[in-house]
Amino acid sequence: MALIVQKYGGSSVADAEKIKNVARRIAETQKKGNEVIVVVSAMGDTTDELIQLAKQINPKPEERELDVLLSTGEIVSSTLLAMALHGLGYEAVSLSGAQAGIETDASYSKARILRIEPKRIVKELEKGNIVIVAGFQGITSDKDITTLGRGGSDTTAVALAASLKAKICQIYTDVEGVYTADPRLVPEARKLDEIGYEEMLELATLGAKVMHSRAVELGQIYNMPILVASSFSDKPGTIIHGGTEMEVRNRVRGIAHDTNVAKVTVVGVPDRPGIASAIFEPLSKANISVDTVVQNASINNITDLTFTVARGDLEKAMSLAKPIAKSIGAKECVSDSTLAKVSIVGTGMQNVPGYAATMFRTLYEQGINIQLITTSEIRITCIIAEDRVKDAIKALHKAFELEKASI
Ligand code: ASP
Ligand code: MG
Repeated sequence: MALIVQKYGGSSVADAEKIKNVARRIAETQKKGNEVIVVVSAMGDTTDELIQLAKQINPKPEERELDVLLSTGEIVSSTLLAMALHGLGYEAVSLSGAQAGIETDASYSKARILRIEPKRIVKELEKGNIVIVAGFQGITSDKDITTLGRGGSDTTAVALAASLKAKICQIYTDVEGVYTADPRLVPEARKLDEIGYEEMLELATLGAKVMHSRAVELGQIYNMPILVASSFSDKPGTIIHGGTEMEVRNRVRGIAHDTNVAKVTVVGVPDRPGIASAIFEPLSKANISVDTVVQNASINNITDLTFTVARGDLEKAMSLAKPIAKSIGAKECVSDSTLAKVSIVGTGMQNVPGYAATMFRTLYEQGINIQLITTSEIRITCIIAEDRVKDAIKALHKAFELEKASI
């Protein structure tokens, strides 16, 4: 008998019919002789609606109260799913994150799981129950309810799978798996049968919104195979695991893009020690995460310093950077929020020359100007104008022959 953890996202449980459909899928899994733990997200857009509601009451709701409010979304879907299973004649029990033993730190709205005490889950499984756990939530040692950050139910699922040593963690959603690029922008995009943790992590962080990146990170740490598949079909999906990284492949695995990018340039910065720290320390204190940083080689001891932030942070970043720029004797501070990131990702690129050159040539042939470039071992990212994203990824998809099945 294998233990399987399944997670169903908000769109898979958006209404009563969909909840019943999910219940049938869970029942099938148990009927095949498996023990099943199910993690569920809130129905449809419930979380957004609850946030809106809270803001109508108070534009700045207190974090502790907001977390309790948001946690109710997953409680609703988990109980309804248990009722749907009862209706099919199956034994099932719903548990809140707290009941399931998910202990977190006290960072409301972005809590981290510290420990899982799975006693109750194990007891329910032993009784023959299908255990439905409300995703995205936990409890602190002081018994306060927390949430794990938007999209956090994926993380609940992988954490439970790792803690209970499940055979696999299956993430069911409204897409058929992980694609070589966003299929809405690139019709030729191909669903991948498999992908490595590292590659998936780069794609997830770079804006491929299939999975919560912390969940992928956990999967990698505990070497837990994760299946991403559709809850609306029986297509095989994409398996995320460690094995593929061993393969010798000479290929780009996928292309990610992210339009949530803004750029700040401090122009005419005197080139002396301490300048970068003067600019970036206040940003980090304000909890603004800086992504790409580029400093030009200086001419006559004057340089330009450019960095990118999420668009939502631009105003705050500018209000901090402007007075600093002035105080260090820089000429001015300018911004642009019409940018996007386009990245090619693949472990097959490691130590193989030519990928960057092909990427730059392809963008050049499209007449696309590259504003900034960053790389990691398995990724090359170019920052370009947002209105050229579609052209860029279509051309790159073709240049790297991603429409062809990989080896
Ligand atoms: N319901 C939460 C959200 O919408 C958590 C999740 O869906 O995973 O962010
Ligand atoms: Mg959701």
